[in-house]
Amino acid sequence: MPEILSGKEVQQAILHQLQPRIASFRESTGRPPGLAVILVGHNPASQIYVRNKVKACQELGIYSEQYNPPETTTTEDVVQLVESLNRRPDIDGILVQMPLPAQVDAQRVILTIDPAKDVDGFHPYNLGQLVSGRPGLRPCTPAGIMRLLEHYRIPVAGKKAVVIGRSDIVGKPMALMLLHAHATVTICHSRTADLAAEARQADLLVVAAGKPALVTAEFIKPGAVVVDVGINRVTDRARVEELFGDDPDKLTSFEKTGSVLVGDVHPRDVRQRAGAYTPVPGGVGPLTIAMLMANTVEAAERRLCKCSASGSLAGWQQGSPT
Ligand code: NDP
Repeated sequence: MPEILSGKEVQQAILHQLQPRIASFRESTGRPPGLAVILVGHNPASQIYVRNKVKACQELGIYSEQYNPPETTTTEDVVQLVESLNRRPDIDGILVQMPLPAQVDAQRVILTIDPAKDVDGFHPYNLGQLVSGRPGLRPCTPAGIMRLLEHYRIPVAGKKAVVIGRSDIVGKPMALMLLHAHATVTICHSRTADLAAEARQADLLVVAAGKPALVTAEFIKPGAVVVDVGINRVTDRARVEELFGDDPDKLTSFEKTGSVLVGDVHPRDVRQRAGAYTPVPGGVGPLTIAMLMANTVEAAERRLCKCSASGSLAGWQQGSPT
């Protein structure tokens, strides 16, 4: 049986390590680290993500504030809100939940966030720091996956890693982090000529395509480590039976709720071929929230210790990478 790489277990380890850092930050400053979350409109999936993030803050003793501008809000309104949060000394992290409605210019909003408070790690300054291997706030999902690999002592240096997906928030930063950890990295995408053949080369396969069960047995080298980032909801009964025919619990759950979650990797095939894999749910998802908490604490500490009074980038030039 392959090893199951539990994101929940790693999440607990990350959160546990943050507790004394939060306590010591409070002692030094008289306040907890602070996170502001902006959710524009009422996207139901985004509402769940934001609720989980705020809940994680509460459980950990991080101060959080939530802003919920209406669906019809303008770029200018969001930019002004971000600018006001940039100026707030008690707010260390600013998160703008994506996706934004079409009329809001997401790039302009991201560019407005003070890079020292950019806890999602999406600002071009932080992405540039990542490219050059310098300290900065890293995108949460790939940073969490690196923590998972460390936690389970999965060797990366010298290994052949394949990343399926090249988004700015998962695929590209994931490939860069694996490269910095000395893997030989291939990035695949929707125009890759023979995806299965590329994937089959991988000792470590990370899949972030957003396509349910895209990766089947012929993509997986026997014994490979498979990290499944995808979260897809399947509502078609025949498809659920094809994916989970051997898992009565999933079928029962489908009967009750009308849907089940599946990753980008076929759940049966990965069990048969991989040496270790992350389940969906319970794999990568919990890591993303844990790393958001870690980035908020990191941002708070750096602003306290190293940045100039204006909260400028000065402190980012020193210190160890996150
Ligand atoms: P995007 O849609 O931004 O990017 C998807 C990438 O996958 C693109 O680069 C696309 O290629 C590639 N792709 C799509 N279809 C194929 C295909 N058939 N073959 C090869 N490559 C393909 O998605 P994200 O990166 O934002 O997210 C990916 C998945 O991860 C989603 O399911 C999302 O819900 C999930 N996710 C989960 C998180 C978690 O915490 N667990 C956090 C973030 C995301 P191209 O560039 O050519 O279009």
